[in-house]
Amino acid sequence: MSKKIWLSSPHMSDEGYEVEYIKEAFDTNWIAPLGKNVNEFEKELAAKVESKAAAALSSGTGAIHLALNAAGVGEGDIVFCQSLTFSATANPIIYQNATPVFIDSDYETWNMCPRALEQAFEKYPEVKAVIVVHLYGLSADMDKIVELCKKHNVALIEDAAESLGTYYKGKHTGTFGEYGMFSFNGNKIITTSGGGMLVSDNEEKIAKVRFWATQSRDQARHYQHSELGFNYRMSNIVAGIGRGQLKVLDQRVAKKKYIFEFYKRELGQLEGVEFMPVNEWNEPNYWLSCLTLSGKVRPIDIMEALEKENIESRPVWKPMHMQPFFAQYDYIGGEVSESLFENGVCLPSDTKMTDEDLNRVCEIVKGLWA
Ligand SMILES: *Cc1c(COP(=O)(O)O)cnc(C)c1O
Repeated sequence: MSKKIWLSSPHMSDEGYEVEYIKEAFDTNWIAPLGKNVNEFEKELAAKVESKAAAALSSGTGAIHLALNAAGVGEGDIVFCQSLTFSATANPIIYQNATPVFIDSDYETWNMCPRALEQAFEKYPEVKAVIVVHLYGLSADMDKIVELCKKHNVALIEDAAESLGTYYKGKHTGTFGEYGMFSFNGNKIITTSGGGMLVSDNEEKIAKVRFWATQSRDQARHYQHSELGFNYRMSNIVAGIGRGQLKVLDQRVAKKKYIFEFYKRELGQLEGVEFMPVNEWNEPNYWLSCLTLSGKVRPIDIMEALEKENIESRPVWKPMHMQPFFAQYDYIGGEVSESLFENGVCLPSDTKMTDEDLNRVCEIVKGLWA
């Protein structure tokens, strides 16, 4: 069997930073609950993205859930949600017994289409919150989306799970809305094995999120609860991995960019191939290198050819309005997200890939045009 190439696998620092932080937690017996790594990871991540406060949580999904809670989203409320995304963006809307309305993407950004968002505001002026996503490390068109949310006085939540290290006009994604979240799941640009972070400039709300995430224990000697609680806090061990990984984030972004440019150079001229859009205002983290196909070679051809050679690749996310579970909810927009799903492929973008690995992938893909 030829060497396995992953789509995007965990990549710990060569320096062993993660192990040092974990060791410190062991040596001081701060395995759980909480501890120094959790506090420091929150501070370090908040500083990196220039947000006032951050809450370290057990998953990115939990971060979206508590962001909705913080935005006051409850039973029967409407939430606009980008349709082209991973289901974890939309599921927490259902956890809150709220109602999602899915919004199409545009070709310029692959993310939420501001024109479709405007139409959605006209149809549902009572909407309670908007969730925009920065897919594959590409930023959404934030000036327009922020302006629309401000105009309608609606809370904006940014799903920046895939975009740690991505900047829009010099400002980090996840810091434009009331709330932003990051994920440290196994295949993200940095990973803690699993975990998430909620960021906001509203320090009071972040304190509240930490309270909810630790079972909403009131300040009392006995166990007293005035509010619904969650068990969503990040452990001190996991946070240690995060602190170490954060030190190599810039290196990871540089390698992801290198991978994208390699593919673009080698495959960009093939008939019908178009790479994901990198706008002049967008400084992506290039989490995954994605392209669309409009000629005779189809995404399935690329995925099958790579799979035969033990190389992982993936289709673009299947939009939420096309998912059986979410089919009953309204959808605003056209066919952009559907078309990106039908014609898109994510190429292996593992930061441990060598030039040899990249050439192997390119030769297999080019072979389909021969
Ligand atoms: C990974 C991901 C999430 C969920 O994060 P978890 O930490 O796995 O819960 C949410 N949204 C998007 C777009 C993601 O890619």
